[in-house]
Amino acid sequence: MTAITTGKTPRKTPHFGGVLNNYVGGEFVASDKRFANINPVDGSEINQVAEASAEVVDRAVEAARAAVEGEWGKMSVAHRSALLHKVADGIEARFDDFVAAEMADTGKSLWQAENIDIPRGAANFRVFADMASSRAGECFQTETADGQQALNYAVNKPLGVVAVIAPWNLPLLLLTWKLAPAMAVGNAVIAKPSEDTPATATLLAEVMHEAGIPAGAFNLVHGFGPDSAGEFLSKHSGIDAVTFTGESRTGGAIMRAAADNVKALSFELGGKNAAIIFADADFDAAVEGTAKSVFTNGGQVCLCTERVYVEREIYPQFVAALKQKAEALRIDWPEDESTDMGPLISHEHQQKVLSYYQLAKDEGATVVTGGGVPRFGDRRDDGAFVQPTILIGLPETARCIKEEVFGPICHIAPFDREEEAVAMANDSDYGLAATVWTSNLSRAHRIAPQLEVGIVWVNSWYLRDLRTPFGGVKLSGVGREGGVHSLNFYSEPMNICIKL
Ligand code: NAD
Repeated sequence: MTAITTGKTPRKTPHFGGVLNNYVGGEFVASDKRFANINPVDGSEINQVAEASAEVVDRAVEAARAAVEGEWGKMSVAHRSALLHKVADGIEARFDDFVAAEMADTGKSLWQAENIDIPRGAANFRVFADMASSRAGECFQTETADGQQALNYAVNKPLGVVAVIAPWNLPLLLLTWKLAPAMAVGNAVIAKPSEDTPATATLLAEVMHEAGIPAGAFNLVHGFGPDSAGEFLSKHSGIDAVTFTGESRTGGAIMRAAADNVKALSFELGGKNAAIIFADADFDAAVEGTAKSVFTNGGQVCLCTERVYVEREIYPQFVAALKQKAEALRIDWPEDESTDMGPLISHEHQQKVLSYYQLAKDEGATVVTGGGVPRFGDRRDDGAFVQPTILIGLPETARCIKEEVFGPICHIAPFDREEEAVAMANDSDYGLAATVWTSNLSRAHRIAPQLEVGIVWVNSWYLRDLRTPFGGVKLSGVGREGGVHSLNFYSEPMNICIKL
């Protein structure tokens, strides 16, 4: 381990200067083909990554199938659950390594990595291990035509081999959100982290190995999407299900690739989330909550707000207050305790976000704050930073109102009537999340179900209970995960009917 010197307080980053390998059939597997893992704080190389070839993906599928048919598939639920708790213990035992790796790959703040990403990564294993071991079954006593009875009961079987394709914004958290329930119900998995964030997935493979997860039950393949590990997995006839989090367009590509083999699919996709703020809301809480929902993780959370609708009588004050919050955000080294926002994930994503900043101006927006790149006068100027940005004045038809930017940006528009706010919020191809800020509970209950999304937060944002249904409508996803919904997706009930 070597110190990575991105900030004032260097942190030890595992595998710094080394190679992150694939993990197949219980062994770490190198590759001749490699790509660089880049730190978005200053554009420096952290380490090299072994890209999985089609042949390595084939081996991972074979190893996973053998695990399903072997020790892992035959293991009792209690034993499996205990092993997954050991995985959570292993993440916690190497907490600092995971934090350092996540920060180096993403540039996210120490606070966020320590308080959200890594603890949630461990919690996912504990929660789903416990849920799987206390899962209720279905049973019906049926009256038959001859006056007798039959007993129907369902047994839940794993799907088999599940490919988990994850994005870069919450790398460990979102990968384990799917790996944990898939493994808890007995599937063997092949994890494909984003090419931009390969490090914590590699540490997870080390933890799985040390925890004694049987060979083949967990596999890791590194690489990209098209013509690389992502596509090899989606097209593979030996895979029973693909669970994916990422862009809606990628979801479409995976759906097409998976179609010939008719795989089970679960998709958590993009969003263009709205916040509706009424004049009767607790003003300070609404400003604070909206600032969080727009700027957390540099706006790179699928649940982040990009469209803000504010009741006209408080509109000018709200715009001014959110501007103040945006300008007070500390954009700094991820390692500094007081940093609020780091860089975007990559230069490529920085260019995409900046192109929307320019487009907004071309479409006639007034830039309330931001709209450019912060300058530091040190090597962070080679990083992927952008300014937190607030826009006003765009028509609802503008591309910046319609398309997901996935950066620290929002547009604020006024509304006069409740129905108008609901109509504007719903006028989107996406439907992931929405927030409503009001002190009128009747109104909250009235509006929430009218919103065409998978999740509504009232007077809060990102308040998560892992047992609740999670997912989106329209372009934002297919299916639901979370709690029993995850267990249901990753297994199939088989009914057994006995004539008594
Ligand atoms: P992305 O779609 O570019 O990539 C996600 C993953 O898919 C990566 O591992 C990538 O290598 C892989 N991939 C890319 N093309 C592929 C292909 N053709 N076949 C198979 N795999 C392929 O997404 P991203 O840029 O990493 O993540 C940001 C997006 O994710 C945003 O749109 C965001 O809203 C969305 N997201 C959604 C949720 C949710 O829960 N709904 C959560 C987080 C992020």
